[in-house]
Amino acid sequence: MSIVKQRDPASPEFHQAVHEVVESLEPLIERNPVYRKLRVVERIIEPERVVMFRVPWVNDAGDIIVNRGFRVEFNSAIGPYKGGLRFHPSVNISILKFLGFEQILKNALTTLPMGGGKGGADFDPKSKSDNEVMRFCQSFMNELFRHLGPNTDVPAGDIGVGGREIGYLFGQYKRLMNEFSGVFTGKGITFGGSLIRPEATGYGATYFLMNMLATKGLDLKGKLVAISGSGNVSQYAIEKVTEFGGKVITCSDSDGYIIDEAGIDKEKLHFIMWLKNVKRGRIKEYAEKYNAKYFDGAQGIWKAHNYHVAMPCATQNELDEVSAEALVKGGCVAVSEGANMPSTPGAVKIFLNNGILYGLGKAANAGGVAVSGLEMTQNALHMAWTRDEVDKHLQRIMKEIHDSAYNAAEEFGQRHNYVLGANIAGFRKVADAMIAQGIV
Ligand code: NDP
Repeated sequence: MSIVKQRDPASPEFHQAVHEVVESLEPLIERNPVYRKLRVVERIIEPERVVMFRVPWVNDAGDIIVNRGFRVEFNSAIGPYKGGLRFHPSVNISILKFLGFEQILKNALTTLPMGGGKGGADFDPKSKSDNEVMRFCQSFMNELFRHLGPNTDVPAGDIGVGGREIGYLFGQYKRLMNEFSGVFTGKGITFGGSLIRPEATGYGATYFLMNMLATKGLDLKGKLVAISGSGNVSQYAIEKVTEFGGKVITCSDSDGYIIDEAGIDKEKLHFIMWLKNVKRGRIKEYAEKYNAKYFDGAQGIWKAHNYHVAMPCATQNELDEVSAEALVKGGCVAVSEGANMPSTPGAVKIFLNNGILYGLGKAANAGGVAVSGLEMTQNALHMAWTRDEVDKHLQRIMKEIHDSAYNAAEEFGQRHNYVLGANIAGFRKVADAMIAQGIV
């Protein structure tokens, strides 16, 4: 850890992600000193390449705006760099390094041949016109295209990068390269996208949750569920949890959260999808339409009610120790993370110490990148699978991820410690590939 802090003193999110993994790996490295001898941990925490670039563009008023773009190509031991792009004002190198690092082990857990990467820009698509978003995406791609390729680096979406942005980015890549290739995932269905890709992260986090619950003979029927966020991951988590018989009574955006005691049913979820994906409005409008309660400030969501299950699906460090205590006191039995690193280290300790089934993001939310991997396979085969085929693959992969984390935890005498299990299972695969490939 001291090396990481010395090299990147201003990267708290990256320190947090590395610390969690390094701590989990201690028993593995104790048993396999070769990892220490060959300095695999020191190598895996250093990105293979980081690109940072200027993104100038012109807004509708004719003003020139300059944003900053990044791509962290972290690890290509088991496949091309793979990981989303995030457009959000908070984007900086610490956040992208934490996300890229998490992505290495997450992608390894999917069993598919994908390395780890992440990128984005400090650009906020909210409140921008479609034309402004298009001009920004084109300028961003004018630099990024030279670093991408179907066998080199294949980005996807993340916060602020949905179907609209991917369409513009892909269009500009195609124009610059004069080539139609599967260099993005999350593409539209008419140009090489996979069915179930938009749903995959939210569905996958719910499948992971069902697998965890099953180890204790539980399911979702009649359970009160809290889901934060109201974007891509949250929307499909709400859909799948409801399908399994859970009642979702809350969701949020960065301004605040709603509590709807009657539950968010299919019709209300359609309204959220329209509100967030088409109108690009605020979640407050849900409360006005359905006579639900609305509270300012996103962080209060976990303390506002008693829940049986919590699914943080908004952003990193959105669930702190106080929230974790409140969840435990309120009778919560399981937490499945749709977002990346949404629980602070203190919150994670509280979950583990209280026997909560805790599915960490890099395992629970791997469904998105898993279906991205399946999109790459379909593109390479020049085929498109049916919805049902992709969903079956997703369910199988989420069960395999669950089981490999569960079994690794058990192997090291810590049954139900999915943090330890997922980190060990993911690391082993990448580390062994790195060792086999020599010092590169
Ligand atoms: P979206 O942009 O579609 O939605 C993000 C949601 O989180 C919005 O409701 C947003 O509110 C809210 N949010 C963003 N920042 C904050 C904040 N600082 N405080 C409170 N709420 C906030 O993103 P996704 O749904 O795609 O991503 C959500 C999480 O899931 C991220 O952590 C992402 O890394 C992770 N993830 C996503 C995958 C995917 O396939 N999309 C795959 C794996 C993980 P507002 O509308 O106000 O901005």
